[in-house]
Amino acid sequence: MPLTPALLAELGLTRYAAEPIWPSALVAGEAHYADEEARALTSPIHGLTLGHFAPASAGIVNLAIEAAHGAYLKWRSVPAPLRGELVRRIGILVRQRKTALAQLITLEAGKITAEAEGEVQEWIDICDFAVGLSRQLHGLTIVSERPQHRMMEQWHPLGAVGVITAFNFPMAVWAWNAMLALVCGDGVVWKPSEKTPLCALAVQTLVDEVVESMGTELVPVHPCHLVLGEREVGERLAAHPLLPLISATGSTRMGRAVAQTVAGRLGRSLLELGGNNAMIVTPSADLELALRAIVFAAVGTCGQRCTSLRRLIVHESLIEQLLPRLVRAFSSLPIGDPRYPHTLVGPLIDADAYWAMQAALQAAQRQGATLLCGGERVEQDVPEGGYYVHPALVRVPGNLEVVNEETFAPILYVMSYEELHDAIDLHNAVPQGLSSAIFTDSLREAEQFLSPAGSDCGIANVNIGTSGAEIGGAFGGDKDSGGGRESGSDAWKNYMRRVTNTINYGDHLPLAQGIRFDIG
Ligand code: NAD
Repeated sequence: MPLTPALLAELGLTRYAAEPIWPSALVAGEAHYADEEARALTSPIHGLTLGHFAPASAGIVNLAIEAAHGAYLKWRSVPAPLRGELVRRIGILVRQRKTALAQLITLEAGKITAEAEGEVQEWIDICDFAVGLSRQLHGLTIVSERPQHRMMEQWHPLGAVGVITAFNFPMAVWAWNAMLALVCGDGVVWKPSEKTPLCALAVQTLVDEVVESMGTELVPVHPCHLVLGEREVGERLAAHPLLPLISATGSTRMGRAVAQTVAGRLGRSLLELGGNNAMIVTPSADLELALRAIVFAAVGTCGQRCTSLRRLIVHESLIEQLLPRLVRAFSSLPIGDPRYPHTLVGPLIDADAYWAMQAALQAAQRQGATLLCGGERVEQDVPEGGYYVHPALVRVPGNLEVVNEETFAPILYVMSYEELHDAIDLHNAVPQGLSSAIFTDSLREAEQFLSPAGSDCGIANVNIGTSGAEIGGAFGGDKDSGGGRESGSDAWKNYMRRVTNTINYGDHLPLAQGIRFDIG
């Protein structure tokens, strides 16, 4: 049985697992079950069933949104450091449950144990960040042009925030949003991926337990709610006028749809969408470092990170020595059950992902690419029923049509360049703009890559790979990657509204711009 009684107990899920189907929603700590047809949920490890769940109905979704809005109306008046106390205690319980939460991520999303634990660690890290932030939600004081006047900015809670997330970070992306939204005084309603509802139930259950343990004196209202379901549930969130901000993480296709709906009601959207991330390797690069960074970024999470390395742009003088080493590294990766400690590459999320990978490899070859290694399904020494693949290395003459698309699988397209400005042009000539890297020991080349005329991505690194960002920096990308910035730095401002105050402490009423308006 994939979900053992011990794991369920540790995650607080035993009572839900006793029912024939998982809940469709958890609203203010209460489970709701929809009448809709239930669908089976399977593990990417071996295709075994993890249970059934029915998508939340329109009525349940509305209930959750209204609960999040109602929560905001009270939560906004709780002092921010006390809101931070809720997040601090969530962080403590996450630490205690780290192993169990990671095991569930592995089971439901197929991540290897180390990466699943890393994802839970991100939740812990953003808790710590948010707790500190709860005493630093500061605005500016601005000098006034009028005598005996003062101007200032305040940041106030925004409202209830709708959070839509993707399958590949089934806990961390919600945490980036929710932990900040909580200290900012907002309510939260979360629609996770339909591929990872159990991770969401475990997360929400943990929060429910903390809220309950703190009592209504400290937490007067439950600010976090969860609705499960497919695209339609996300669409309901996007359209709802009680959600002033929709934070949506997923494909560019999804982001375009959400952005249009939210813009249609003049709401705000925070979009974290697909990437098509590249690394440039220059002649002065430390090739040992580069090799390790390339392999981790390209095959980590089986190529299913938004920041996965998809394009490698190598100086022509290095290509002959780098390619055989990459082929060797790609061909000797331990692929298999993500629960085993030595495995580095787990399964793809499902059959659709496998077929999308095959289609991309075929299209690439039709368009003039050469498959150097990998791409085929692994069927030996892996659990039956999962979609395990050999990561593929593909030599391309440049950005072929297929290279412009994000295929959410471990395919690395390799191309060569002569001059750095050509490499940067190649780098930027795709629709997406999420993460990027250069490997070089030349200060001049590094700075050129980071300059306004360099990488056009939201994340640009030197001598580290494209994936594996820390929570302290603002995370996100431009162009088709959505333009949103989440997590660290001043991303908290997304979850608040800015108010400009002008205060007159004199006994005259001078008008701005020297306007005179005497009424006698
Ligand atoms: P997806 O777009 O299929 O689904 C993401 C979420 O959006 C799911 O919860 C889904 O139900 C919902 N959804 C889909 N269509 C919708 C619509 N029209 N309206 C409202 N909600 C809708 O993505 P996925 O397959 O789960 O995840 C992979 C994608 O996510 C990749 O493109 C990856 O790059 C991207 N991603 C981006 C980031 C980032 O921070 N930039 C992080 C993780 C994943």
